[in-house]
Order: sequence, then C-alpha cells, then structure tokens
Amino acid sequence: MPFTHDVIIIGQGLAGTLLSETFADRGLRVMVFDAPRARRSSAVATGIINPIVLRRTVPTWRGSEMLAIAGAYYRELELDYDASFWRPMPLVELFPTAQEAGLWHARMKEEELARMIALGSGDDPAVAQLPQPYGCGMVKRCAWLDIPALLLAHRERWMRSGALEERAVEQSDVRAIDGGVELADRTAPVLVWCAGPFHSVKGLVPVRGEGLTVRLPGLALRSIVHRGLFLLPIGDEVYRAGATFNWDDVWSGRTEKARHQLLDKLSRIWSGEVEVLDHWAGVRPAAVDRRPILGRIDAHQAVFTGLGSRGGLLAPWCAAHLADHLLTGTPLDPEVDLKRFTEQPPPSL
Ligand SMILES: Cc1cc2nc3c(=O)[nH]c(=O)nc-3n(C[C@H](O)[C@H](O)[C@H](O)COP(=O)(O)OP(=O)(O)OC[C@H]3O[C@@H](n4cnc5c(N)ncnc54)[C@H](O)[C@@H]3O)c2cc1C
Repeated sequence: MPFTHDVIIIGQGLAGTLLSETFADRGLRVMVFDAPRARRSSAVATGIINPIVLRRTVPTWRGSEMLAIAGAYYRELELDYDASFWRPMPLVELFPTAQEAGLWHARMKEEELARMIALGSGDDPAVAQLPQPYGCGMVKRCAWLDIPALLLAHRERWMRSGALEERAVEQSDVRAIDGGVELADRTAPVLVWCAGPFHSVKGLVPVRGEGLTVRLPGLALRSIVHRGLFLLPIGDEVYRAGATFNWDDVWSGRTEKARHQLLDKLSRIWSGEVEVLDHWAGVRPAAVDRRPILGRIDAHQAVFTGLGSRGGLLAPWCAAHLADHLLTGTPLDPEVDLKRFTEQPPPSL
C-alpha cells in the first residue's frame, strides 16, 4: 500500500511548526496532529532572540551562525505568509556592577564579540530614563520573534488545507505497519515527535518559566532591556517582563512567588507606575546539557525537542538539520544527537 503522507508530525509548537514548514518546502506531504496543552512553551514564549549569554558575556552555542540562519529563515516565512512576526531590535544590558561593565569592555576586544556587542544604548533615548550607575552595553543584532503570531498563521493555513488536525496522540495510537507507521488513518514512513516537554525523552528536563505583561506609563523603549530580567517592548508602553526559571514543581502554573520576584526585579529598572496586565507560565523543554535533542527513536519514529530557553534562535537550523538527516541520512551533529543520551559510552580499558 502506498503511504498517504511522507511524514507525520506530533505537536505544533515552534519545533513542529518549523519542521513541518521545512518538509513542505522540500515538496513532502506532511500531516500534523496537535492538541494544545496547558503550559505549552510556545504559547507564552517572550520571543527574544539574543545570541549572547549575558551572565558571562560570551556567544551562545554557535550564536552568530544560528542568528544568521534564523533571521533569513523567519524573513522568508514572513514573505510566504504575508505576515509580520520578526522584528529586529537591539538589546541593552544595564550593567549591575562595575565588574560586569569591566568584563563587557574586555570582551569587546575579542574578535567574534566585537562584531556582536558595543557600549551605550544606540539610538534609543528612552534608555536614559533607566538607572545605569555603571553604564550600559548593547547587543546589536537581536530581535523579537512573535512566536504566538507565527504559530497562529501556520495553524490557520494548515488547518484550512487539512494538513493539521486537532488530536491528542498517545504513543499507543501509533501502529507499526510495513515500512512505516499508521495513525488515525494516515500512514507515513516516518513520524516525528515535536511534543515539547509532554513527550518523555532521555536527557530532557522540563523547566517552568513565568512572566508578566505590564504597562509602564511614560516609558517608550525601542530596545529590549535586560537587568535581572528582560523587558521587551510590544507597543503602546506595554512590555513583556520575564522570565523565571524553576526546576521544581514545574507543572504548577503561575505562582505568587514568581510574580513578586518579577515585580521586585522590575522595580530595580523602573521606579514609575507599573500596571500588571497579565501573568503567564509555561514549561520549557530543556536538555540537561542545554543543546537541542534530535534523532531517531527507532526505524520509523524520531524526535525534535530540547529547545530550552532559546527555541526561536535554534529551531530553524535544527529543523533543517533533522530534515537532512531523515531524508538523506546526513549524520547528525553529535552535540544535538539523541544518541548522546541513549547510547552507553564504550567501557574504558
Ligand atoms: C516563560 C517562557 C519564556 C520564554 N521565552 C523565550 C524567549 O524569549 N526566546 C526564545 O527563543 N524562547 C523562549 N522560550 C522557550 C520557547 O518557548 C521554547 O524553546 C519553544 O517554544 C519550545 O517549542 P516546542 O515546540 O519544542 O514545545 P511546545 O511549545 O511545548 O510545543 C509542543 C506542542 O505539542 C503539543 N503536544 C504535546 N503532546 C502532544 C500529544 N501527545 N498529542 C498532540 N499534541 C501534543 C502541545 O500541545 C504543543 O502544542 C520561553 C519559554 C517560556 C516557558
């Protein structure tokens, strides 16, 4: 029997959305099943794209390369959807200590970082309203990726064409058939789990994150600002402020403790009025070694997860890399290969 599809994908978060787009671009017949679950990460993600680990002032894993790939990818997708979800925006770091300011100065002398960071706040006069006893630095090529807008555009288009169906899939629903799998009357040679923290995979650790949407009357920033928390301007003096990281009690949702923590951190940046408009919580699918997790679970099932707190930056490269692997057998980069958790190292002599 011929297959009804070339690939079946479970989950339409950022991973499932980008992987399904990538396969479709390569001319494959794709079927996506998704059941929107409470606390799914992509529904609440702030969407900051930042290639620098601000705590240490070093590039994130393959930061420059991932940023170039992500920018090109999302711009192309915007054109395809005739929609706007990629907004380049610098990020201003308000130095909390003299040491951090000194480290920033030192790092600016390193070749790769010199291209990525600078001193000052660029051309955003509103930053002058914020306290900066030790000055500030700027990460030049950051962006805001409006992940919920991207996912909604994809969902509407794919549901209209019948390529996305709302359905909660259990592992037991997936039936092995000759040369592939069958699920809800669809068949394909390969099925990819893009189910975030809801699908258990070795090496995956769920991490709860909370944030607030706030109005800060009188503050009209044009840059993302960071000091203890991120402040992302989304228009009309409204900001997304976050996020927290919790490894315990990850499914408990919004907590008063996190709300207080966030408001406390915000008070160190902004002493004016704060109106809380929303409080949100989600669970990040992170990996213990902070790298994505890609690869085959068995001959006909694979996984794409582990995007952690930098899904927007990593997902375009990951989707293309996994597609190459599944379609042409290109070896996976060992740093992202699921096998790093599933295969025992050889015994030492
Ligand atoms: C508070 C917070 C702030 C964040 N901020 C940023 C940020 O600023 N920048 C950034 O890049 N990243 C950020 N992230 C991280 C980002 O959200 C994730 O890296 C990314 O969204 C993960 O996408 P995913 O598709 O792997 O998982 P998910 O978003 O969890 O998607 C999984 C999808 O699969 C569905 N699903 C699961 N199981 C099944 C099943 N059995 N059957 C059918 N459907 C199923 C779920 O309902 C969901 O739709 C943040 C995350 C949080 C929580």
